[in-house]
Amino acid sequence: MQPTTKTPRSEVLRALVGGPVDAIDTPALVVDMDAMMRNISRMAEFAKKHNIRWRPHAKMHKSSQIAKLLLQAGAVGVCVQKTSEAEVMAAGGVTDIYISNEVIAPAKLARVAALAHQLAAESGKLAIAVDSPEGVRRLAQAMNDAREHAAAAAVVDVFVEIDVGQHRCGVAPGRQAVDLVHEIRKHPALRFAGLQAYHGKAQHMRTAQERRDAIGVAVQDALFTRKLIEKEGVPVDLITGGGTGSMLYETASGAYGELQCGSFLFMDADYAANERDPAQPQFEHALFVKTSVISSQLRHAVCDAGHKSHAIDSGLPKVLAMEPVGELEYANGGDEHGILRPAGENQRVPQLDDTVWLIPGHCDPTVNLHKYIVGVTGGLRKGKVERIIRVDARGALT
Ligand code: PLP
Ligand code: MN
Repeated sequence: MQPTTKTPRSEVLRALVGGPVDAIDTPALVVDMDAMMRNISRMAEFAKKHNIRWRPHAKMHKSSQIAKLLLQAGAVGVCVQKTSEAEVMAAGGVTDIYISNEVIAPAKLARVAALAHQLAAESGKLAIAVDSPEGVRRLAQAMNDAREHAAAAAVVDVFVEIDVGQHRCGVAPGRQAVDLVHEIRKHPALRFAGLQAYHGKAQHMRTAQERRDAIGVAVQDALFTRKLIEKEGVPVDLITGGGTGSMLYETASGAYGELQCGSFLFMDADYAANERDPAQPQFEHALFVKTSVISSQLRHAVCDAGHKSHAIDSGLPKVLAMEPVGELEYANGGDEHGILRPAGENQRVPQLDDTVWLIPGHCDPTVNLHKYIVGVTGGLRKGKVERIIRVDARGALT
């Protein structure tokens, strides 16, 4: 296809399918499909071996197409963080969705309730986290209001979020959680489904020992809370949580029944900086920004990917060492530029048109910057474009 100024980008990208990686215009977000599928297999194997469910977090890939690949590999459903992400996943054909976050605004809760009824009608289900009695009452009200327009009554699964150390959302472990369980059980449209005990801060603690210790505390908090709830005659069916950095420890505890890891799929430079526990599956980098050199000077070169192409909240990207450019260091050149410096002495500066592959510092917000991910198979250098993945939940923040 000879693109004209009127050709939409989606079509330009689709025309690449079956063609060489070289033809991908830059900057572009590229996923190495082979590496991604290996990551999926490793997670599936891990979950099977340890008899734990996995519900990968879609906040990371934001794509219903990828969510469905994960479901085919054995994931039980998806986690999302936002109501609008849940809507996008449902529109893309995902029927088992957990909003692992608090939703408080009545207008949003009306959408949550409508979605719960829609999914129930498709034999699917919606779940959500809560951490306040007011949140529970508003959710129940929204479910009752939605019931009036629905063919059949739906029930939403409700997880009580406890704060196990991140000091973000969540009630204190113990009595407060029990009180919330009682509040949930007052409302027939709500089903108490268990506890959410996710420790976000533990994910990037650098040493395995620090992560193990942090999750050790989380497990104690979760078990103690479960015991108090069960003492009142209410079963706690599931404890859910865990991320890519800590999944070993939630799993080993035997307390958690479900993992929420997201980043294992793509990995990023921040995760690569963690000390790897030998028991951790060998997840590989699968997400890259393909970028090209647009200026080559005496001691440095400049590529066409700045922080509009990749998020820098967890540090600048690393450069994938690859011939002909060798090891490079990436320095911030602003929104649209990256400054590349040879890492070694006597190393040549990249030349105009050279391709450089970046490993983003943080995968989640990087994906959110792009409408499409180009899926490549057969390697970054000699491979072919296999598919174009739409980031359909991109910008779904409400
Ligand atoms: N669960 C919750 C509640 C999260 O907020 C996150 C990520 O921030 C995850 C799971 C997934 O963690 P990761 O992408 O580090 O595997
Ligand atoms: Mn993240």
